[in-house]
Amino acid sequence: MKVYLDNNSTTPLHPEVKAIMIEAFDLFENPSSIYSAGLEVRKRVSRARSSSAALINANPDEITFTSCGSESNNTILNPLSILQLFPKTERNEVIISAIEHPSVMNCAKNMEQNGIKVHYAPVDSCGRIIWDQFSLLLSDKTALVSIMLANNEIGTIQDIQRIAKAAHKAGALVHTDAVQAVGKMSVNVKELDVDYLSYSAHKIYGPKGIGVLYVKKGAPFAQYIHGGHQETGRRSGTENVCGIIGLGKAAEIAMQELNNWSKQNALLKGKLAAGLKENLPFAIFNGDPENSLPHVLNVSFAGCEGEVLLIFLDQTGISVSTGSACSSGLPSYVLKAIGLSSEVANSTIRFSLGYHNNEEQIEYTLKELQRIISLLKK
Ligand code: PLP
Repeated sequence: MKVYLDNNSTTPLHPEVKAIMIEAFDLFENPSSIYSAGLEVRKRVSRARSSSAALINANPDEITFTSCGSESNNTILNPLSILQLFPKTERNEVIISAIEHPSVMNCAKNMEQNGIKVHYAPVDSCGRIIWDQFSLLLSDKTALVSIMLANNEIGTIQDIQRIAKAAHKAGALVHTDAVQAVGKMSVNVKELDVDYLSYSAHKIYGPKGIGVLYVKKGAPFAQYIHGGHQETGRRSGTENVCGIIGLGKAAEIAMQELNNWSKQNALLKGKLAAGLKENLPFAIFNGDPENSLPHVLNVSFAGCEGEVLLIFLDQTGISVSTGSACSSGLPSYVLKAIGLSSEVANSTIRFSLGYHNNEEQIEYTLKELQRIISLLKK
């Protein structure tokens, strides 16, 4: 049996997205061309922009298409952008959390190397921002707070509304990396009250190579890619029309299916967790038990190497990921930040479900896991 439980890494293309994209490959004209075929392509891009905006309750003109979530994050979190948020002032510091995705963590490193002070807000054992310590980092020097809406490894959801309120009160702007949250939970930029938000099509059953950057109307913005003024000058380069149309369809489907998908995912996640608790009582569940993505279960199986487990599971047709975000063999910094020892962190598996998973697959996974772990523990 094939069981794909690595949907945080990427999701399969939804069949309706695939169908619309195959048709869109024939729309080769440039959407900037002013003859009728070009205008037709531009209309299709506009429609996709509206759907991509609706999914996060933004206005279409607040959406910039990028190549991926990483590019969206990099567009905001780079030294030139930060220095242009509050030009000619002392406001040039950034606060991120200690558990951001590498596409934010490595931006932080780059900003530091270029003279920007970056503060790392610590998290508690569930992965939640420690409020008192975060508040102390805010000052009249803070230009930007960038904290992810939901974590890619452990699924913990942050209280971005509260974070944004405090950051705005301190005079700073707010970005959130919502790559793992959009399409999995309700995301409303107006309720969150963020100035910038990133998401990515390939995490919501859309294609790879296309991302979204939301920029609130009136928020300062420094363009990252200069050129022919596409995307109203925010992100030049001839549009990835096929990707944009695929993203638009994926966003439409996600809007319609969000409730069904999250209910179904939560049910299957509950079944997986209950089965693990019953049969493998030494399993440690990581993340926030109260406020976590409905499709992510991060579990440490102390005494078993995560990568060995992954390989054995792969041999039975089950695809999962280890807790580790990098392939260097180092324990995951996210799991270290929530207080796990290196040994426990290295014994961790992330299960991330999708709408295509079912009960039979979960039962099969439980059975195989139990068999493999008893083999490894011998
Ligand atoms: N942010 C988070 C939280 C992610 O999980 C990922 C990808 O896994 C990214 C950003 C990067 O997105 P992309 O793969 O579209 O560059």
